[in-house]
Amino acid sequence: MKSDLRQQLLGCLEEGSTGIGLFDADDRLRYANRYFRLAYALGESDAPSWQEMMRRCHRERVGLLIESGDIEAWLARVSQKRRQLAVRSFESDLVDGRWMRVTETLHADGWLLAMTTDVTALKVNESTLREARDQAVRLSITDPLTGLHNRRHVFEQLEALFLSARQLRYPLSLVVIDLDLFKQINDTHGHGTGDQVLVHFARHLEQALRPQDLVGRIGGEEFLLALPNTEPAGARQVLHRLRASLAAHPPSAALPELRTAFSSGVAHALPDDTVQALWTRADRALYRAKNAGRGLDLDDNTVTSFAV
Ligand code: GH3
Ligand code: MG
Ligand code: MG
Repeated sequence: MKSDLRQQLLGCLEEGSTGIGLFDADDRLRYANRYFRLAYALGESDAPSWQEMMRRCHRERVGLLIESGDIEAWLARVSQKRRQLAVRSFESDLVDGRWMRVTETLHADGWLLAMTTDVTALKVNESTLREARDQAVRLSITDPLTGLHNRRHVFEQLEALFLSARQLRYPLSLVVIDLDLFKQINDTHGHGTGDQVLVHFARHLEQALRPQDLVGRIGGEEFLLALPNTEPAGARQVLHRLRASLAAHPPSAALPELRTAFSSGVAHALPDDTVQALWTRADRALYRAKNAGRGLDLDDNTVTSFAV
C-alpha cells in the first residue's frame, strides 16, 4: 500500500468511532486507536500485554468491567477461549456502563486484531422491545379486571395439566364456579360494586389455592379451577375454605352487609376422559347446584377416581 494511503488510513482509524487494537503474536498491544485507548483507559504510549491490560482494568476498575474477585482465575478461564478461533465475537461491559461488541480476528502469523463497537443503544432498544413483548404476552393471557388468567389461557393450561395428570396418573379435580344472583348486585348497587365483588372474589380464590392449582375467569362471573393431586373431597374442602373466608369478609367496606355467594360443580378426571367431557360434567353439576337452590357445591356423581 502506498505510504500516503497508509497515512490516510491510519488517520481515519485514529479518528473513528470503532475501537481498534492490534496485538502481536506474544499478545502485546502494538497499535490502538484513540477510541480503543479511551475505552480501556490506556495512555498514548502504553503497550501492555493483553493480560497486563486486563489486570489493570481489574485493579484500577477502569476499561473492561471484570466482576470476578480473583483476576488470575478469571484470566485462566478467559485465556482458554482467547486465540482459539480465527474470528470470535462477543459482548462485554465497560466500567462506564457502555456495552461493547468485540470482534477478534486471529491471523495466521499470530497477530490478533480486536475491533470494538458501542452497542449500548441497541441493547437498550432490545431490552425495551423485550419488555414490551413480555407485557403484550402478559396482557394476552390475563383478565384485565381480576388479574386472573383469561378464558383462552386457562383452557390452554388445563389441556396441559390434564395430559400431565393422565400420563403421570395423578388425580385431577375440575371446579366450575358461578356467583349467585350477581345480576342483582349490579342492579342494586351498580356495576362498580359488581366489579369490586369480582376482584374481591378473585383475591379470596387465589388465597384458597396452592401454587400448583390453576385458576381463571372464564366468563362474566364464572371461574374455573383445576386442582392436581386432588380428589373431589379435597376440592370440596377448598370450596368450604373459600366460603368461610367470603363469609368473614365483605367485598365493600361501604356495604358491610353484602356477601358474595356462589355455586359450583366439581368433576374428577377419568382414565379415558377428555378435557371437554370433564368440563361438561363439572358444568352439569353446577347447573344442578343452581337448580337445587344455589350456594352449593355439587359433584358430578358418576365419577370414580384414578388409580394412583
Ligand atoms: P345465577 O345465580 O343464576 O348465576 O344468577 P346471576 O344473576 O349471577 O346470573 P346472570 O347470568 O343472570 O347474570 C350475570 C351478570 O353478570 C350479568 C352481567 O351483566 C354481569 N357481568 C358480567 N360481566 C361483568 C363484569 O365484568 N362486571 C360486572 N359488574 N358485571 C358483569
Ligand atoms: Mg353466569
Ligand atoms: Mg351467576
